[in-house]
Amino acid sequence: MLNRTFIVVLIACMSLAGATAAAAAPQAKPALPTIVVLATGGTIAGAAATDVQAGYTSGQVGVDQLLAAVPQAKKLANMRGEQISNIGSQDMNDEVWLKLAKRVNELVAMPDVAGVVITHGTDTIEETAYFLNLVVKSKKPVVLTASMRPSTALSADGPLNFFNAVAVAANREAAGRGVLVVINDWIHGAASLTKTSTTAVQTFMSPLRGLIGTVAYGVAEFYRGPVGTHTFESEFSLDGVTALPRVDIIMAYENMDGALIDAAAAAGAKGIVIAGVGNGNMTAPAVKALAAQATKGVVCVRSTRVATGIVGRNVELDDDALAFVASMGLNPQKSRVLLRLALTKTKDLKEIQRYFIQY
Ligand code: ASP
Repeated sequence: MLNRTFIVVLIACMSLAGATAAAAAPQAKPALPTIVVLATGGTIAGAAATDVQAGYTSGQVGVDQLLAAVPQAKKLANMRGEQISNIGSQDMNDEVWLKLAKRVNELVAMPDVAGVVITHGTDTIEETAYFLNLVVKSKKPVVLTASMRPSTALSADGPLNFFNAVAVAANREAAGRGVLVVINDWIHGAASLTKTSTTAVQTFMSPLRGLIGTVAYGVAEFYRGPVGTHTFESEFSLDGVTALPRVDIIMAYENMDGALIDAAAAAGAKGIVIAGVGNGNMTAPAVKALAAQATKGVVCVRSTRVATGIVGRNVELDDDALAFVASMGLNPQKSRVLLRLALTKTKDLKEIQRYFIQY
């Protein structure tokens, strides 16, 4: 009896000791995801002579300095950086776009890379994000970020934007939501965001389609996916593409004639996007000039200079008769991106209109 009690107590002690040992054993930390940072320049890499001056130069700080400036991000991910370019994004160009898109596609195909962060200027970030949204073939997070104030400014916004961008790129919930832009605590979809203030930190809005989510000090909340086909489901590809066709944007205005439309075509434009008044409208002489170019095979898209709203087909202009395409929810600069990629595939107006409805 004594023996049996002793054995029961012994077993109980042994399992307690085992449990304590297991509890004390150091828990294997989940490995941090690897995020590759591609730097292109912009104000986030900009510098001024003093911390309270308006004048500064974009693209002064290299990717290693950018990473070193936000050591807090190392708790979120293992990071390595590559310099793609170091320019103000007002100088963004096809050479950088093609290089950037190629590199992003290479990186997201690597099993050890969880996501990509791209630092960029705010001036054209919406175009680059939308371009990548159409040609990157992956569900992995690709997140662009930027800042309105240079790295040397009082209350520079770059470091926290960068930190939040890394947090979103390292977040599994960001996957499959298309290319994202993280800035000033908001997570925007590439098709929806647009710059609305020349200087305010709160410059980016997603007026028609709303936010994908928010992120505060690295803690992200996702509300929904982006509207429009994107990334892994996109039918656009840069395989075999070495140059993109010329597409010009022309703003409509009071008393507009057809001179700039004709000039664009003469300069070699394969497509013209009109930043129309109202619902993609323009003067009668401009309509006449545009329709004449459409009959010559220039693909003509009606978008709008108005900040929000859809440009629908056949509203005040008969797109069917005039052979025009309506931009639907895309602003002029994004219409241009989509039209350039569309023209790498087709000149069929019905098909191009479908792209504008779908993307
Ligand atoms: N001009 C700058 C750029 O786009 C503005 C900025 O980044 O905020 O590069």
